[in-house]
Amino acid sequence: MVALNGKTAVITGSTTGIGLAMARALARAGANTVLNGLGPTDEIEKERKRIEADFGVKSIYSAADMTKPAEIAAMVGLAEEALGSVDILVNNAGIQFVSPIEEFPADRWDAIIAIDLSSAFHGIRAAVPGMKKRGWGRIINTASAHSLVASPFKSAYVSAKHGISGLTKAVALELATFKITCNSISPGYVWTPLVEKQIPDTMKARNMTREQVINEVLLDAQPTKQFVTVEQVAGLAVFLCTDDAAQITGVNIPIDGGWTAQ
Ligand code: NAD
Repeated sequence: MVALNGKTAVITGSTTGIGLAMARALARAGANTVLNGLGPTDEIEKERKRIEADFGVKSIYSAADMTKPAEIAAMVGLAEEALGSVDILVNNAGIQFVSPIEEFPADRWDAIIAIDLSSAFHGIRAAVPGMKKRGWGRIINTASAHSLVASPFKSAYVSAKHGISGLTKAVALELATFKITCNSISPGYVWTPLVEKQIPDTMKARNMTREQVINEVLLDAQPTKQFVTVEQVAGLAVFLCTDDAAQITGVNIPIDGGWTAQ
């Protein structure tokens, strides 16, 4: 059993999908959690209460918009004030947009770079002073197989995810002597709203049916021919928070059914 009792984890983009599974897994291991992300207030409140009831930890919610640096800093401040510290920071919020580059809307490029890359910088910048003071920290960035390889029509996402892999290495080196690790996790295709939402655009961009997109685009890349589960990604995040993972830093760990081995 992993013991994260007394630690606080901030997980951005944790109202659905991978982030929510990570928040639940970290809470199961004993950590208080700060949920963040978009969505209907009543549903978020339900998930927050469910975490407290299921795992006997404290859980709070921050509505910080990951495109707004001041709100990201305020989220870290809120966590420190309400729960005492930020020991684990999971930069997970992300969006996707699929389009040929010559038609790629400039505002979608800016939003993807802001949410999928820059928000991690702002969160790390705000959380590191407290981690250094306490002499312990875990920073986990949700990257993607697209941090290692590219696919057509995903120029902004591939750029942001390659960027987060570089940020991970730089931060890991800076913090190496402070007992703070920084790693990224790179899932292949995980069945979440983010994947489901990009199917119509991919159908349009590639002139394919829904079934063709699932089998010939999404699972085509994954040698196991199965989607990764959110629980598997969350399990890896929890492992990175253990003492056994204390010497793992600056790496980008694929969890992609063999995709990037090809
Ligand atoms: P998701 O759409 O279920 O979750 C995304 C989360 O980010 C949600 O909580 C959403 O509310 C939040 N978010 C979006 N914009 C935000 C903003 N401006 N401010 C605050 N929060 C915001 O998708 P997911 O698949 O769970 O994605 C989570 C992460 O995993 C992303 O970084 C994504 O790129 C990455 N990822 C997903 C897959 C996959 O196949 N699903 C694969 C590789 C990487």
